[in-house]
Amino acid sequence: MSRTQNSIGTWIGWTFFADLANGLALTFGYMFSRSVTMQYPDKEKWLPYSRYRGHHFLKRDEEGEIKCVACELCARICPCYCIEVVPYEDEKGNRRPLKFEIDTARCLFCGLCEDACPADAIALGQQYEFSSFSSRDLVIGRDDLLAKPGKAAMGGGVVAARLDTKKDVLVETSETRGYNWWRNIRRT
Ligand code: SF4
Ligand code: SF4
Repeated sequence: MSRTQNSIGTWIGWTFFADLANGLALTFGYMFSRSVTMQYPDKEKWLPYSRYRGHHFLKRDEEGEIKCVACELCARICPCYCIEVVPYEDEKGNRRPLKFEIDTARCLFCGLCEDACPADAIALGQQYEFSSFSSRDLVIGRDDLLAKPGKAAMGGGVVAARLDTKKDVLVETSETRGYNWWRNIRRT
């Protein structure tokens, strides 16, 4: 649209209060639409998009062996130098990580470690609830990366929580569907 057409459109809009009416219609539309306030974390939890990159996890192969071959490529490519790998040779002569730590306080969750891994041993899951008052707690070790709940094959779904008002305790359900916050957002 040319500048002249644009200014004519604006002039007509102001003359007939069309712009004002449009703005008011939008405001009133939102006033009477459903609330988007989330009752987090007791009743509702955020369901991230599938491409969301959260807490890392290490994978095992079919025999239950850790897949990581301690090649340190993830540590080399990491832009924040927050991965530390110390290799050792196991009884079968395989190179494995004796120490594998990720400092999630420094991590950008860029996913480069996952992309660089030649053994498909590390991935970023969907977990986002691991904040802490101590930065030391945010350094995640090998065993926790292997065994933490929700870090299994798919990286763990976000478990929807319900507040059981009769028992007055928080009950975690086995539902993998969280609350779809986005359905309350009206988009044009
Ligand atoms: S996600 Fe990125 S910043 Fe975090 S550990 Fe992996 S490479 Fe490093
Ligand atoms: S996670 Fe992958 S890239 Fe990192 S040390 Fe293990 S095998 Fe190498």
